[in-house]
Amino acid sequence: MSRWKCGIEGCDARFKDVENAIIHQTTEHTRHECKVCGTIVPDGYFAIRHAFDEHTRAEFVRAYDADSSAVRVREEIKSSVEDEADLNSVVQTLREEGAL
Ligand SMILES: [Zn+2]
Ligand SMILES: [Zn+2]
Repeated sequence: MSRWKCGIEGCDARFKDVENAIIHQTTEHTRHECKVCGTIVPDGYFAIRHAFDEHTRAEFVRAYDADSSAVRVREEIKSSVEDEADLNSVVQTLREEGAL
């Protein structure tokens, strides 16, 4: 069962484990520049986490010209990743690969 899909700009790479999906997003895709503060972050989950942990929903909506359903979709992705992922091991793997 490959239930995790990358989803960045139409990328349909699929993964059995959410950890591998995040590693793929971080190592195979170009970085994302936060439109609120200009910080460069890995695209995908880390970009979502940055946007919602570092900024308010209102800042996100304004900077990305997003609507409430775009916010809701990202919040759902963030919480389902965080329910399932061993983020410490993801971060450790990425550090070992020099990707963070
Ligand atoms: Zn991808
Ligand atoms: Zn930012």
